[in-house]
Amino acid sequence: MDLIRLANSLIPDEDLLPLERYEEMYPPRQLPKGAQVTRLAPSPTGFIHLGNLYSALADERIAHTTGGIFYLRIEDTDEKRKVEGAVESVIRSLKYFNVNFDEGAEIQSPLNNYGPYYQRQRAKIYRAFAKDLISRGLAYPCFCTEDDLNAVREEQTAQKLTPGYYGAWARCRNLSEEEIYSNLAAGKPFVIRLRSQGDPQKKCVFRDRIKGEITVTENDQDIVILKSDGIPTYHFAHAIDDHFMRTTLVIRGEEWLSSLPVHIELFKVLGFPMPAYGHTCSLMKMEGGNKRKLSKRKDPELSLDYYRRDGYYPAAVVKYLMTILNSNFEEWERKNPSADYTQFKFTIEKMGKSGALFDLDKLNDISRDELSKLSPAEMFAFLSSWVEEFGSDADRRHFAQGEYVQSILALVMGVGGKKRRKDIERASQAVRMIDYFFDDTFSPAYEYRFAPSVVNGVLDSFAAVYDPADDNSAWFAKVKEVAAAHGFAAEMSAYKANPEGYAGSVADVAEILRIAVTGMANSPDLCTIMGILGRERTLARLAAAHVG
Ligand code: GLU
Repeated sequence: MDLIRLANSLIPDEDLLPLERYEEMYPPRQLPKGAQVTRLAPSPTGFIHLGNLYSALADERIAHTTGGIFYLRIEDTDEKRKVEGAVESVIRSLKYFNVNFDEGAEIQSPLNNYGPYYQRQRAKIYRAFAKDLISRGLAYPCFCTEDDLNAVREEQTAQKLTPGYYGAWARCRNLSEEEIYSNLAAGKPFVIRLRSQGDPQKKCVFRDRIKGEITVTENDQDIVILKSDGIPTYHFAHAIDDHFMRTTLVIRGEEWLSSLPVHIELFKVLGFPMPAYGHTCSLMKMEGGNKRKLSKRKDPELSLDYYRRDGYYPAAVVKYLMTILNSNFEEWERKNPSADYTQFKFTIEKMGKSGALFDLDKLNDISRDELSKLSPAEMFAFLSSWVEEFGSDADRRHFAQGEYVQSILALVMGVGGKKRRKDIERASQAVRMIDYFFDDTFSPAYEYRFAPSVVNGVLDSFAAVYDPADDNSAWFAKVKEVAAAHGFAAEMSAYKANPEGYAGSVADVAEILRIAVTGMANSPDLCTIMGILGRERTLARLAAAHVG
């Protein structure tokens, strides 16, 4: 068969460069010895998940601790799954977690010498290499329809054979020249398949940087390399891109392990040296005593948006992921409590070989701990940025009153003080905790435990003597006065000695005032709350809180 003629007929493009030109255009990178080039290669589906962040963190740490490069490549070969804005969303989501790219799609960088970084824009490179494989007899056109392939699969299933397009099942592998040209003349659509040279009886040992030594069986599947629209499959694009973008270490999910034999063969026929690989284990969760993979459908916490929308403190999520990424991170953290995670010596060897257990409770613990360490300015900045993006209009109005919010935070969370609250996990929760300080979001239920006449009397008496200039003890003395005037015991000891003799104690009076001013039976120090609300708002609330 005239293979050159075949290659020209199947891939008639006139603007393909000689293959050596690509080697010159994308020369090996000039980096220090030991520097690793890693990449994140998501499909732009708009769904960026914890697994992506998990891999990206490993990529980023390894590149940046070795003086290497971490770049972003967009694998957009599947037009149907493409979502508008997905690339920006990947970059934004990762940036939120302090994972930044040095180079790649939509990254403004002088290092962008290995692009384009969108696979659709690289069609010519793939076609040039596919054409070369055809001309060397290592790839061929396949005219099988979906129905043909289904029929093959059914037959293989019935015979309990390995499914796929290989060996004697690969019908188009041995088409004659005449058959090929008559199919082409008839305008039949075709894909380009690899003519696999592998022997499934042969095995070799492959050293995965995470999983260790694994036994790999040679590939014998004639996989599709170019689809009927001329766009490559993941496999083909992976080999070409990771070679020409000069990736030294591919970190990707373990779901790709089964394709490794295909990739080994592709690198071989293309004549490229292979990069190192590390296949990460899947994130698992415990359910009813069993471990199972986190699933997009069942587990909202798989989506990175979940953490942003709920206002997780990004450093807490990163710290948590570091604990599951590297088994020695926690110990290092205990020894270096104030050090930043970037000072930790991250190594791929310490990554887990199998199912990493994702434990939301533990993440929440870390989150509470991290938030309890923030300075007032850090807490305010963190909550403000969350409000900016995810808060309601009311939240944004509130946070525009910076000083007022800061004094509330100091009180409600003990930020900057000794009585620091340690139970705050997320911005969404913290922001709701201060709602009652603002009239537009103050929605009290007024659940008093005393008769309306008693409640109203207490409110009026206190309003008459309230003075914002009072310090805590003067304030409390007035609460006691009001208590005594309405038949409540001013001293707890007196009340305890004779509970029948009183309507209640001074604590009950304080509760009435607290419900009136905050809408809640429990709150931080009421005198301070009144101070923050100010005289007018406090009096208005006391007046509005009458019942009956
Ligand atoms: N586009 C592939 C994915 O999103 C990338 C796999 C890889 O990192 O090679 O799963």
